[in-house]
Amino acid sequence: MPNSTNDILADAGHRSSETEFYTPLPDGYERGKTRYVVVMGTVMSGLGKGIFSSSLAKLLKDKGLRVAPIKMEGYLNLDSGTLNPYRHGEVFVLDDGMETDMDLGTYERMLDQNLTGDNFVTSGQVYRRVLDKERHGGYLGRDVQMIPHVTGEVKYMLRQLAVKQQADVVFVEVGGTVGDFENGFYIEALRELAFEEGERSVCFVALTYVIEPQALGEQKSKAAQLGVKRMMELGVQPHMIACRATNEVNDTVREKIAMFTNVPMRRVFSMHDRDSIYTIPEDMHRQALDIEILSLLDMHSRVRPAAEDKARHQWGRFVEQLTNPHRHQIKIGITGKYATLRDAYASIDKAIEHCSAHLNADIDVQWIDTGELDASTEAIAELLAPLNGIIVPGGFGARGTEAKIACVRYARENRTPYLGICLGFQMAVVEYARHVCGMTDAASSEFDTHAARAVIDILPEQKKIEGLGGNMRLGGKDVQITANTRAVMLFGNARAVRRRFRHRYEVDPQYIDELTAHGLIFSGRHPDQPIMQILELPHDQHPYFLGAQFHPELTSRPLDPSPLFMGLTAAAIQHANPDLPPEKISPRYLPDPNHHTVDA
Ligand code: GLN
Repeated sequence: MPNSTNDILADAGHRSSETEFYTPLPDGYERGKTRYVVVMGTVMSGLGKGIFSSSLAKLLKDKGLRVAPIKMEGYLNLDSGTLNPYRHGEVFVLDDGMETDMDLGTYERMLDQNLTGDNFVTSGQVYRRVLDKERHGGYLGRDVQMIPHVTGEVKYMLRQLAVKQQADVVFVEVGGTVGDFENGFYIEALRELAFEEGERSVCFVALTYVIEPQALGEQKSKAAQLGVKRMMELGVQPHMIACRATNEVNDTVREKIAMFTNVPMRRVFSMHDRDSIYTIPEDMHRQALDIEILSLLDMHSRVRPAAEDKARHQWGRFVEQLTNPHRHQIKIGITGKYATLRDAYASIDKAIEHCSAHLNADIDVQWIDTGELDASTEAIAELLAPLNGIIVPGGFGARGTEAKIACVRYARENRTPYLGICLGFQMAVVEYARHVCGMTDAASSEFDTHAARAVIDILPEQKKIEGLGGNMRLGGKDVQITANTRAVMLFGNARAVRRRFRHRYEVDPQYIDELTAHGLIFSGRHPDQPIMQILELPHDQHPYFLGAQFHPELTSRPLDPSPLFMGLTAAAIQHANPDLPPEKISPRYLPDPNHHTVDA
């Protein structure tokens, strides 16, 4: 008769065909080495589980611990590639090409850490693994069940992540809310995991919501209590509660929540609305949540205090730069099909925020829905004249493309700083071909399948692959930077960078000579194939006209902002203050006006 969890695990491994336990362990897994923090939502979704989880993970990372976040999605899609950003927010692409939920962006930015497909799980992935295993005879004649097989697979994936990323702490975020049909098996798997790993190995956090009905004018905790109770019904006792609320949650309410959920009041955290989410880690530290976690998981001995001081100082400086009043005021317009929904461009929004802190600027972002736009020159001019910078971001399909081309033309001709991202890069090529090279019929075959001159065309190697999801050029790729260009200056003289791509179309190589003969510079290229990745105009012709076939916003980090966004913002500040010398704005991101070419 096994008498400890260890024995159960060992035993289950040997007798997996007979026992009710099904807990395959990945090679190299050492029980006790990795701890787990599990964040689940109650009452409603969209409360910021990712923000809570990443902030807490950051605090532990700053203490020298290795952290690995993982998002577990309830939906059946294998990845987020086919999801509509209008409904789900942007598709965030990881370096390994995995297309994920925008929350992974929050983790990468907060932790300043590249993640992989191992940090992102969907129900579809779990079921696929189980079904594949079943077809390969992996269950030794047993009927395959939600418990223990599906839950066993979930536990396996979590432990595999722990091994692969050598994590001290795995931060698990369960998508949706407790009580949803589709995430129930995750919660059961995590309950089992906590049992198997033993005491002080898993810390459960319930994120809940404290309502403040206007008519009452006071905070009410009942919904929060009921939400947490729901979690307890599933066999999970939270160790910590984070309360989302409009205003700071008062002591009476925290006390009530503590009392009805068996969680000491010091572990009931108020996560109220604030100017910047980046202040949350410091707030957690002030309330000693980091110490609480270390105690709950018995991890004090793994902390390196020296690392912590430096990290907290750097972060504190960034938060100050972001939240203090700014010297410059600028307006940047972003065109796009999903302009009504900020989440669809979450990383662009964040990249701009990073620049705002580093360049001391208030950036008023104006979203322009090109789907609704009159593409006539006058209408465009009226709309864009008040702007100091224009971004045409990524996008798919034909809708709004003519208006986008008109926006590019306005920016080029009126010397308004311009950054084209992916589709915005392609639109800049079409615009240049039409209006500078005289190819009036130039187009992209994405929106004009019979274009006489498709300067933007489908990638040759992709032409063969049909169907959605799987025919895109995805993930981190090397970009070779040309000497004596704005790009090389922006990248601090680096001659090679790695950036993330997500596209099907590209510049048709047969038009490269003609475009460059008319003055367009391709300053970033694939190291050995004729794939154009950055374009620009010389700075004596235009203060900032740049496009990237990749998505610079995906790798912009609070302490390491995207150089292309920094270049745009610096140029926009100059546009708003023509008399201000560039060195007063940013010598690093603006060219010296006395030189006609930039020294590489
Ligand atoms: N639709 C374009 C392509 O597939 C651009 C993609 C994008 O902007 N992400 O190449």
